[in-house]
Amino acid sequence: MKVELTNTTKKLCVIGDPVLHSKSPLIHNTMLAALGLDYVYLCQSVPRGGAEEWLRCAKFAGYAGFNATMPHKEALFPLMDQADEDARLYRAVNTVCIKAGKVYGYNTDGRGFIRALEDLDTAPEGKTVLLLGAGGAARAVALKLVQQGARAVFVCNRTVEKAAALCAHDPLGRLAPAGFDSAALCRLSQRADLVVNCTSLGMEGTPGQFEDLSFLEALPAGAPVFDLIYAPAETELLRRARALGHPAANGLGMLVYQAVFALEHFTDTRIDTAAMAKLLGSVLT
Ligand code: NAP
Repeated sequence: MKVELTNTTKKLCVIGDPVLHSKSPLIHNTMLAALGLDYVYLCQSVPRGGAEEWLRCAKFAGYAGFNATMPHKEALFPLMDQADEDARLYRAVNTVCIKAGKVYGYNTDGRGFIRALEDLDTAPEGKTVLLLGAGGAARAVALKLVQQGARAVFVCNRTVEKAAALCAHDPLGRLAPAGFDSAALCRLSQRADLVVNCTSLGMEGTPGQFEDLSFLEALPAGAPVFDLIYAPAETELLRRARALGHPAANGLGMLVYQAVFALEHFTDTRIDTAAMAKLLGSVLT
């Protein structure tokens, strides 16, 4: 898309490695244009280990802020002058604002996920959740689910040690690690009110697929299935869940909402979340 620049246009960007596939520039520049704000949002490749150097560059170059994706979210956290409650909960930031030489860290991933769940008419309170994966996204989702009142979250991962390490960070003891084999998934699925896929299985450009989705047949009727993946728009997991009659959603909503909340921090502006999600939905699909 074309962005009009002036001599005083404020700079924002997303950093990551890899990052060139990122939809954040399109999402943020669309929102900035709709709001009539004089900012530009760029895409900046920063190699692993480069977060501290980037922070110096961003301050020097007068950036108003930036988003961070893999592999920088955890590395940036200890470099913040101040961090919000969610960033402290996950010990990771995805949004950094730079004001008068100080850096303020936020994490909007969990809020974005919860807001996207609302579109499925679902809230975490009292729920038993089957959560697949134990990487960076799973960590934010699991801790947010517990913070928002989930009764129990079974964190199922191929590498069980990683699930156990994630669960050890739970202050409320409601996260439980489990394996990723069919027997474990079927057993836990019977007790679940909600399934959330935080693995990269089924993601465009990656080789892995679920070997066995029969655990969906054990899931109680009406339990929603949420896949963090948004490309493709319908993974095999979502296709099977819908075929079995479960409400299901991909990760596009989460992507959009975390960006809306990030832009509110960057620009100190309140944004009509539903209207912006509608606009972005039409741009992104
Ligand atoms: P990550 O840290 O690399 O974690 C990847 C997870 O997938 C790990 O739990 C890994 O298990 C599991 N996995 C990978 N290949 C597997 C296989 N062949 N069999 C079983 N498990 C496998 O990645 P992440 O940052 O958490 O992202 C995970 C997914 O969420 C990605 O698809 C990403 O695009 C998506 N995401 C979406 C949003 C959004 O806004 N919608 C935000 C963040 C992430 P091991 O631990 O055993 O390796």
